[in-house]
Amino acid sequence: MIQTIGVIGSGTMGNGIAQVAACAGFKVVMRDLTTDFLQRGLANIDRNLQRDVDKGRINREAKQEILSRLEAQTELDALRDVDFVIEAINEDFAIKTELFKTLDTLVRPEVILSSNTSSISITKLAGITSRPDRFIGMHFFNPVPVMKLLEVVRGMATSDATFATVKELGAAMGKTPIVVNDSPGFVSNRVLLPMINEAVYALYEGVGTVTAIDEVMKLGMNHPMGPLQLADFIGLDVCLAILNVLYDGFNDSKYRPCPLLKKYVDAGWLGRKTGKGFYEY
Ligand code: NAD
Repeated sequence: MIQTIGVIGSGTMGNGIAQVAACAGFKVVMRDLTTDFLQRGLANIDRNLQRDVDKGRINREAKQEILSRLEAQTELDALRDVDFVIEAINEDFAIKTELFKTLDTLVRPEVILSSNTSSISITKLAGITSRPDRFIGMHFFNPVPVMKLLEVVRGMATSDATFATVKELGAAMGKTPIVVNDSPGFVSNRVLLPMINEAVYALYEGVGTVTAIDEVMKLGMNHPMGPLQLADFIGLDVCLAILNVLYDGFNDSKYRPCPLLKKYVDAGWLGRKTGKGFYEY
């Protein structure tokens, strides 16, 4: 039975995942490399929960109870007794490899290891461990407390039992799990990123201005955000990295990142997080 969840990484995704797990009644051990990172993650959770209190969605006692289920730790050893692991550290295969090798020897053999990776192959990550049948992708969306989708990614060796447990856990965390198979970009990014890339090409070729392209997609396709605005929100470096995963993974020129996107990333114009992307913030 899952009582305690280990969440590794307290960044954008990690603190959101820790929050929804604690809200669902699980004990959470959230691990990051420094207390500074952990404090930032905890502050974000506190802010989100306070907003819920202010809007009358939960009362003050409930907020305190949720926070009391959260433990922040810099030592990986603190995860020794967890019943389930969700990894949300940097999107870097080498860093994830090192972590999963250690985790595999640290947590009990029956514990399922999951990764929130947006693009790295689940089969490849599972292969690092001695438990590929108990390895799976849990792809949450940003901001985690708000977004309903949980893309559950089955690797080549993921067992039916692991899948069933994760589906149930995702639902308990208030998400709607949708199962997909392991393939570059899974479903979400395979469909979304070519659209964003095509929007950047349309800008590059002078087919429309930034606002014209975004307005066409908002008004004509009923998208809440235009593709260029969404790219700024995701981060243009992240968009480029995912397109490269698709391009390399399929060896297909249809995923070739637009040269304009590369130029923005080279210039350090990464979108919202740097104050400038296709828009100014
Ligand atoms: P982030 O940079 O905001 O946070 C990553 C955190 O991991 C940092 O605080 C870092 O200090 C910490 N970290 C690094 N190595 C660690 C280790 N060994 N142990 C513990 N903590 C460690 O990144 P993010 O945006 O939260 O992304 C995390 C993962 O989620 C990535 O795999 C990313 O692809 C995926 N993802 C991101 C989004 C998004 O919109 N940002 C959406 C879906 C999935």
